[in-house]
Amino acid sequence: MDILVLGGAGQVGTELRAAVWPAGVRVHAPDRAALDITDADAVAGLMAERPWAAAINAAAYTAVDRAESEPVAAWRLNALAPAILAAETARHGIPLVHVSTDYVFAGDREGAYRPDDAIAPRSVYGASKAGGELAVRVGNPRHAILRTAWVVSPHRGNFVRTMLRLAAERDALTVVDDQHGCPTSAADLAEALATVALRMAGDPGAPAGTFHCVNAGATTWCGFAKAIVAGSVARGGRDVPVSGIPTSAYPTPARRPANSQLSTESLTAAYGIAPRPWQAALDTILDRLIGPVPAEAPR
Ligand code: NDP
Repeated sequence: MDILVLGGAGQVGTELRAAVWPAGVRVHAPDRAALDITDADAVAGLMAERPWAAAINAAAYTAVDRAESEPVAAWRLNALAPAILAAETARHGIPLVHVSTDYVFAGDREGAYRPDDAIAPRSVYGASKAGGELAVRVGNPRHAILRTAWVVSPHRGNFVRTMLRLAAERDALTVVDDQHGCPTSAADLAEALATVALRMAGDPGAPAGTFHCVNAGATTWCGFAKAIVAGSVARGGRDVPVSGIPTSAYPTPARRPANSQLSTESLTAAYGIAPRPWQAALDTILDRLIGPVPAEAPR
């Protein structure tokens, strides 16, 4: 069984390549140089190369702030490319598993968003990802869209790596404390994407639609930063105070939702996937980046 992964060099793509797949499953993950997914002819050529069992799209334009000044680039990758992938996978009768974002929501809801809550993106990135969702829904009925949030991993630039760097460089950190969301391990998300793709590949009746996939629990960026610094200190890193600031004190080009907690209930009901708490996922990432917490010396 051959599974096609787009965006294989990204945070999620790297974990998809590293995931433990069942015997007999081969994962093909061309990087951007090998396949530009905005090139419809190139995508069509690759799709015709072999009988793929499923495609997983983890490629995206993810520079949230830069998207405000590069809307065409963001829409090309986040909306046009998913439209191409949806059309090609539908033509070959295979499922498309696509990754989307919490930033499709406005952020003014109390509690966790459910997949069928109204979307109202407030940024170019969020709008372009919403466009991608629509393209996938319309283009291939055999689709699963997994919205995720606050993705972190040992790879590439992400919040965990940034906080570890700043904690090593500065004497104090100030971090936004009025945006609430769900930190998510790229490895845990990759495992869920693989589970959904394999089920859909083997069963045409497997649940299609839009789901949420984040680690359990929620926090603010400041709460997340405190947990990162505490985890680093437990592994011998520098202890630096972390204090909260309002979003208004840290202006960015893109507007971000004040609350983008996501409910994973329907993913659990459809696919039996129940992600672990974000703190446990963070521990695994810190173990991989820094090393395990040293055992207490015997007395
Ligand atoms: P990354 O930015 O780490 O990876 C994106 C990948 O897409 C990169 O490997 C990039 O290539 C590739 N890519 C860019 N342009 C093209 C192209 N034209 N053709 C083929 N590939 C291309 O993203 P993440 O792994 O963090 O995100 C995965 C998914 O999760 C995305 O859909 C994103 O929107 C979503 N998401 C991410 C969040 C986050 O916090 N990161 C939060 C919510 C949702 P290259 O390696 O050359 O740069």
